[in-house]
Amino acid sequence: MSETVRTGGCQCGAVRFRIHGELGRASICHCRMCQKAFGGFFGPLVSAPEGGVEWTRGEPKYFQSSVNIDRGFCENCGTPLTYRYPGGLELAIGAFDERDDLAPQIQVNYASHIPWVTTIFDQPVRDTGEDAVKQEQIISFQHPDHDTEHWPAKGLHL
Ligand SMILES: [Zn+2]
Repeated sequence: MSETVRTGGCQCGAVRFRIHGELGRASICHCRMCQKAFGGFFGPLVSAPEGGVEWTRGEPKYFQSSVNIDRGFCENCGTPLTYRYPGGLELAIGAFDERDDLAPQIQVNYASHIPWVTTIFDQPVRDTGEDAVKQEQIISFQHPDHDTEHWPAKGLHL
């Protein structure tokens, strides 16, 4: 069996991970704790293979959000990274360098969903030309979506 290695990390690059093995099911969780932890409308998570997460740079800090659950995040930039429960570990989908094949397969805790979350993609899309110009003007301090020795960039202090 060939090993699949995937990488990811937080926005600032202080915490980086590498996955050894196959990821499990991708999901979105509508519970109130995921809304708060992600500062979003739901928590997008994918199951990690047992013992298959290697922290290659830094490590998350953990907040215990309930008796059996803790949530890992970058202490430096705040990016949500993990959801750990007695049966295993899940990782934030948006933290992965490659995400195109991590489409959520199921919604959990649907009873807690924000009522309008079901309509967000019905909204009009802003002209893409306008977005492109603004993106070009950004001087980014975000870690690039791949492992690199050349980080942090000169002058950035982590
Ligand atoms: Zn960070």
